[in-house]
Amino acid sequence: MNAHSHTFQRAMRGSAAGGDFWAWRETMLAEADRQTPELVRVEYERTYREMLTAGYTAVGEFHYLGVAEAHAAAEAAAAAGISIVLLHVAYARGGLPRFRQSSVGEFVQQVDELRAAGIAVGVAPHSVRACPVDWLEEIGRYASSEGLPLHVHADEQPKEIEECLAEHGLRPIELLSKAGCLSPRTTVVHATHADGAELDLLAQSGAAICACPTTEADLGDGFLPTDRARRRAIPICIGSDSNVRIDPFEELRELEGIARRQTGRRGVFSTDELYAFGRDVGARALGLEEWPTIEVDIGHASLAGVDPVHVEAALIAGCSSEVVAATVAR
Ligand SMILES: [Zn+2]
Repeated sequence: MNAHSHTFQRAMRGSAAGGDFWAWRETMLAEADRQTPELVRVEYERTYREMLTAGYTAVGEFHYLGVAEAHAAAEAAAAAGISIVLLHVAYARGGLPRFRQSSVGEFVQQVDELRAAGIAVGVAPHSVRACPVDWLEEIGRYASSEGLPLHVHADEQPKEIEECLAEHGLRPIELLSKAGCLSPRTTVVHATHADGAELDLLAQSGAAICACPTTEADLGDGFLPTDRARRRAIPICIGSDSNVRIDPFEELRELEGIARRQTGRRGVFSTDELYAFGRDVGARALGLEEWPTIEVDIGHASLAGVDPVHVEAALIAGCSSEVVAATVAR
């Protein structure tokens, strides 16, 4: 399960080097501005096919490019054969004009329109940067009454936390909690710089974290506090986010690698836990109850000499998505 993707950013891999996250963001905004429904329809289908080939059978498309582009993304997913949950983004301030709605009422109307078209949706207040408290409260209420997934970026960069503290006297996840946005249907994307109190709020509410390690590395975000999340039993799922890499094995390996570097221990997460992050937790985050299975090429060169009892662990420890042979519909 790919619980967090901005598929248009696939075009940016290898570019925008130098500077920091905020410099990268300027390049990203220019790329976003270039998007049209026609471009989304073509490019997303190609990238969704890549995801499916890599073993992602569903994608949570965190979408802020506009309603026509949302329909195009759903069409692209259908053509590629990947399940999509359109995480429609609420954007009140900042970013580009095309990201924004004039009111939270307009946002809810857009979500209702996408649902009426038969698209599986979730609601996604972009961040505490982009949404004021009254928007967060209304979106939290709507998600709760409609039983929809709620995804939100939080604590990716220190500057976002400083700004939130200056505006509200609270850290981002504290603000989300106060606004009624945390529940078992909530996924907080990144949580890279979450402190102990914020992680406690996630644990108490049953909310999940979506980690995107290859993107977080690419953008210089930092490291997820893996062991502190583990000790609180916070569910973790994965996302390809900026799509600099499309490889679920690599995301899981990075997650465990970060945990090992942070703790000086090996096997911080068990193989079973890591597969659950990639599968069950991601499905829950997207509100999916069933999904196809993945078939692996056991004869692949990267598995040569591996004892059959170690194959499952070796897939995460030492293989790329090239070992995925097929997706088998149930
Ligand atoms: Zn994101």
